[in-house]
Amino acid sequence: PTDLNALANEYLRLAYQNLKAKDDSFTADLRLSLDPNLGLINVAPQDMGRVLLNLYNNAFYATQEQARKSMDGFQPQIEVTTHRENGRVELRVKDNGTGIPSEILNKIYQPFFTTKPTGQGTGLGLSLSYDIVTKGHGGEMIVDSQENTYTEFVVTLPTSNGL
Ligand code: ADP
Ligand code: MG
Repeated sequence: PTDLNALANEYLRLAYQNLKAKDDSFTADLRLSLDPNLGLINVAPQDMGRVLLNLYNNAFYATQEQARKSMDGFQPQIEVTTHRENGRVELRVKDNGTGIPSEILNKIYQPFFTTKPTGQGTGLGLSLSYDIVTKGHGGEMIVDSQENTYTEFVVTLPTSNGL
């Protein structure tokens, strides 16, 4: 049984600290909206930790890229939401970064698909995360995005028996 709220919070701080260690000038608004009634859920914390780190690193990267393209005054924002309803737990990670062009939306879960420069991305993060969520935990992962505006990943996990 895992406290997903604590995991979501700890890994967000970790990802942020790692990034700030490399780029001291980077700042982001971290918004956490965690359901106090989430309870403990049956997920493997190391695996969900990897999913969270992948989503967070991608989100931070996208906001850094957007900051590079934007006028002064752009404020990177990462919003993390958890919600429990009808025997399911939903985790949302939303950023106000570059967004994902619609023509590549159907490729992002493919192993080795990356739009990042050589050395900056392996293209394995989402592929691995998708497998952990779906095959590993019987959950779902969907994405919603608009170019230059936002990207939101929604992970849904069953809380019922068997896991
Ligand atoms: P990598 O991060 O190594 O490129 P991923 O599997 O994590 O590999 O992501 C694949 C691709 O999906 C990224 O290269 C990027 O084009 C796109 N992507 C994933 N998350 C985001 C995001 N939050 N914002 C914009 N693009 C994203
Ligand atoms: Mg990645």
